[in-house]
Amino acid sequence: MPETISQELTPGLIPKPRKQELEDMQMYYSYFENNKERLYKDLLKELVNHPVWGPIMKNTSPEVQEARSELSEKLQRQAIFDNNWEPYISDLIQQGIVYATMGVSFSGWFELINMHRNNLTVLLLNDKDPRGINILNGLNSFVDIALSVTGEAYLAEKKSIVEKQKREQEFLNKELEQFLYIATHDLKEPLRNVTSYVELLEKKFGKELGEEGKQYLAYIGTSADLMRELVSGLMEYSIIGNAKNEQAVKTDLNDLFKNVVSNLQSIIEDRKVHLDIGKLPTLKIYQREITLLFQNLISNAIKFTKPSINPDISVTAEKKNNGWLFKIKDNGIGIDEKYFEKIFVIFQRLNPRSKYAGTGIGLAHCKKIVELHNGKIWVESKPGEGSSFYFTINEI
Ligand code: ADP
Repeated sequence: MPETISQELTPGLIPKPRKQELEDMQMYYSYFENNKERLYKDLLKELVNHPVWGPIMKNTSPEVQEARSELSEKLQRQAIFDNNWEPYISDLIQQGIVYATMGVSFSGWFELINMHRNNLTVLLLNDKDPRGINILNGLNSFVDIALSVTGEAYLAEKKSIVEKQKREQEFLNKELEQFLYIATHDLKEPLRNVTSYVELLEKKFGKELGEEGKQYLAYIGTSADLMRELVSGLMEYSIIGNAKNEQAVKTDLNDLFKNVVSNLQSIIEDRKVHLDIGKLPTLKIYQREITLLFQNLISNAIKFTKPSINPDISVTAEKKNNGWLFKIKDNGIGIDEKYFEKIFVIFQRLNPRSKYAGTGIGLAHCKKIVELHNGKIWVESKPGEGSSFYFTINEI
């Protein structure tokens, strides 16, 4: 992994020092080589007690440490004296990534450089070396190059960690979806059996069961129906994640909305719904999913309006940054602020089933669909004053 990252990054990080900078760096490096023992003696003492570098030094054998500094000194020399930076930069990136992976913070490098710079300055002052300024300039130019390369390596490492976590998360989600799909699929058959035998029992032994027995059977039947609904909902939920297998299609949402209205025609007529639909955009989307999204939101807007009131619903869309913001506003019962997040969690409901039917899956579906389109969904509402559901959709 570090090899490929370093191959990718190296060409862009090769420095082109000016003549004077290069000469100063050469002066610095010669001074460093001539005074290496004196410099290392003090530096090593400080490093052993350093919170970041101390433990690393203790855990690395002296042979490895020696081989490491021998290699990097060889590469540094090649860079500064032959102006051949490629091998040094590539090695530095790999080292940076190794240290970043080990959890060494980037500021640890600044501290290390500062220790070195301080020791060097003391030595230069004590020796009253007349080239002091050039040597320090050379050190600074060299350190600037080294730190910017190490910084890039740290960024690359961070990016690769984030990407790895994302891949792992996607894998886990996929696993969970598959598990859900299989579990719900296997639950369907025993459920069908319950319903069939409830019907059979009623047909054959209805008389013997009497009124109370029939009542119990009816309860079993309704529970089985609800469970079937929940299982189907869960199954649907697991399938949404696989919409990526479907093609996203450029769609005029005004047309798509006509389908939504026609799917909900009977409830719209029953409840005398007033539906005000603004101009909607044409977007590349997963059609089946977006239809379901609008359908869930509109049917909730109708369902959660008091039976005595005619639902008044408006749908609007406006362009926002690189996507679109949709708003679905109703004049329903509203939602208390403390439930604004909870309602998007699967199976979470706020009202008794006896008053408002439902499974608590609808909004979890909506959230998943919106996220599939790289968007967000949220609600603004006050109890008794209606709700506005917002979601964004970015083109796929
Ligand atoms: P369901 O509608 O099956 O109960 P949802 O996941 O669609 O499940 O909604 C979760 C809960 O959020 C609902 O039970 C209801 O309490 C609340 N809710 C959803 N939409 C609205 C709305 N437009 N107005 C008021 N409450 C709503």
